[in-house]
Amino acid sequence: MPDPRPAAVVRIAVDAPQHSGLAGPLDYASEQALAPGRLVRVPLGRRELLGVVWPGDAAPAPELVLRPVAAVFDTLPPLGADWCRLLDFAAGYYQRSVGELASAVLPPQLRELSPSQLAARLRKLDKKTALTAAPTPVRPELAPEQAVAVERIAAQIDARSPKPLLLFGVTGSGKTEVYLRAAEAALAAGRQVLVLVPEINLTPQLEARFTERFAALLPQPLAIVALHSALTPAQRLQHWLAAHLGRARLVLGTRLAVFSSLPDLGLIVVDEEHDPSYKQQDGARYSARDLAVWRGFDLKIPVVLGSATPSLESWQHAESGRYERLTLAARIGGGALPRVRLFDMKALPPSAGVTTALTAPLLAALKERLDRGEQSLVFLNRRGYAPVLHCGECQWKSDCPHCSAWRVFHKRDRTLRCHHCGFTERVPRACPNCGNPDIAPIGRGTEKLEEQLTEALPGARVLRIDADSTRRKGELEAQLKAVHDGDVDILVGTQMITKGHDFRRIRFVAAVNPDGALFSSDFRAPERLFALLMQAGGRAGRDAERDVEGATPAEMWVQTWHRDHALYQALARHDYVRFAKTQLEERRSASLPPFSHLALLRAEARTAEAAKAFLMAAAELAQDEGVLVYPPVPHAVARVADVERMQMLVEATQRARLQAFLRGWVPELIALKRDHKAVLRWAVDVDPLAI
Ligand code: ADP
Ligand code: ZN
Ligand code: ZN
Repeated sequence: MPDPRPAAVVRIAVDAPQHSGLAGPLDYASEQALAPGRLVRVPLGRRELLGVVWPGDAAPAPELVLRPVAAVFDTLPPLGADWCRLLDFAAGYYQRSVGELASAVLPPQLRELSPSQLAARLRKLDKKTALTAAPTPVRPELAPEQAVAVERIAAQIDARSPKPLLLFGVTGSGKTEVYLRAAEAALAAGRQVLVLVPEINLTPQLEARFTERFAALLPQPLAIVALHSALTPAQRLQHWLAAHLGRARLVLGTRLAVFSSLPDLGLIVVDEEHDPSYKQQDGARYSARDLAVWRGFDLKIPVVLGSATPSLESWQHAESGRYERLTLAARIGGGALPRVRLFDMKALPPSAGVTTALTAPLLAALKERLDRGEQSLVFLNRRGYAPVLHCGECQWKSDCPHCSAWRVFHKRDRTLRCHHCGFTERVPRACPNCGNPDIAPIGRGTEKLEEQLTEALPGARVLRIDADSTRRKGELEAQLKAVHDGDVDILVGTQMITKGHDFRRIRFVAAVNPDGALFSSDFRAPERLFALLMQAGGRAGRDAERDVEGATPAEMWVQTWHRDHALYQALARHDYVRFAKTQLEERRSASLPPFSHLALLRAEARTAEAAKAFLMAAAELAQDEGVLVYPPVPHAVARVADVERMQMLVEATQRARLQAFLRGWVPELIALKRDHKAVLRWAVDVDPLAI
């Protein structure tokens, strides 16, 4: 009888289906010992999948006959031990299997290639020729506060156990220059640098700035690469490989880039660290910002979190001394932050059409800027023409048949579109319910605002930028260029235009209808609104040279029914510190994050009852006095695409306590699901952002 035991038994992280639970890596037979971190292909069921040889000893049950590893990617160096630690941590923390997470964060093309195809890709990388010599960049002299910040960060690059640094800098204070200098220091020390940005839209701009600065220092091909989901699969693989092989010295990317393999990583920058886009909203719902901080602790390298309005979590860490705070209080060039004018909607004469967003005083202000040849930005967080169509006869409204939401009226292409499930129809000629031809839009979105502005200000060059106007590739770049070139007088848009852009000509920013978020049931809504308005205001007056003698100062115009609200009062003083203080006090007394830790169990089913029954049963299983389980409630948009969504909050005062609880509970939920066939999907969201 031949020995049934293979030469080696290896543990492989592979994307096994969820019903097998949070099972760790699976055991396979191999003819040779394989180094941890090696990429392999292994059979699973009838398929063959990408896997990663996982650190640790395999311990298969003796009676099991192990399947052999199908192929080994031996031309590629193994993934580092630090990468495996990051994945182990993230999988454990966010309650996913490590194989699933690895498969989700490795470049998708790796799954399709055979070892010989990958070897060919690697040879292709070698053939890349160097760029032509770039000119030595001119570096601006640092402002004093910038110099201090850079020095503190640089000092941490070789520190024994560096602290995360919170770079708290007002809009236009030159945070990016600090990132550039810090990156320079890390690169000079022979380390790789990872820079995260919240939005794909912001990557080209940032890439241009980093390339301009470092092209001379890093002339090798692929020394500076971007990593985000808008790359082609081939590009994404190429950039990922460059990072993994240590050729890319600087990686700029969106949240998924936090998982890049970087053998010499020495510095991580998270720009706009407060931005909700750092949280993945499906699958493994990780926070790239939080994982960046974890990675920094693990590797003992500095992590710079930059923001004008830090998340309250990060702010609290700075207050407690866990993070080091670096402050940039002044705008570059001494420019003032825009004056904030809280325009009281209650003060409008009752007859003057108070429901219209374009109030006469706002129009007058825009007109004045227009006459002076200055650019303005008008901001409304709602795209489309009008959020709903309405029949005055029978009260019909354009609801979505599949969701608990209205379908939005898009005038340009005459459609009613559901922004939740995508269901789209031509606008009916008459009320589908009673035949009344006189159906009318209620409320307004950016499309209508654009139309009204064009009518009210003849001759003004109005441009709208939102998800609808930028669907096609290249459109956003072209539109932003028009703004930068001064070919636009009034820019209208959603929050897409409030983030990050270094507009040089805008002197006036108006938020026409921001009140909605004040009374949201989500405890983070004020924090988000404040950040959004500070960001939006930050687009005005960025070029101090336009602050000439006698000019009207840069201004932010906020139309509100609640002028005296503490949030607006803090905004008017650009007083993030005070805002954070009052918010944190409220959070502390209500025992909300960062003073408690939350997880959300979500369930989806065809009926709300089925989803609720699953959650109630899950609550029964939650026998831990250290955690509080709240009753199930419907999601804010309860039904989407004919699926009912319910959720249930779990709270603990200690993070470790919550983690320990979830480790026991989630496997029980996997078993529980088998008795709840009507539940289509369920998921645990650890540290949820939207509640
Ligand atoms: P933030 O990210 O803090 O909003 P930016 O980094 O975009 O600010 O900087 C605002 C502007 O100031 C940019 O155009 C940048 O090039 C310029 N800038 C930054 N630092 C300096 C400096 N030390 N000297 C001159 N210009 C600077
Ligand atoms: Zn009707
Ligand atoms: Zn819908």
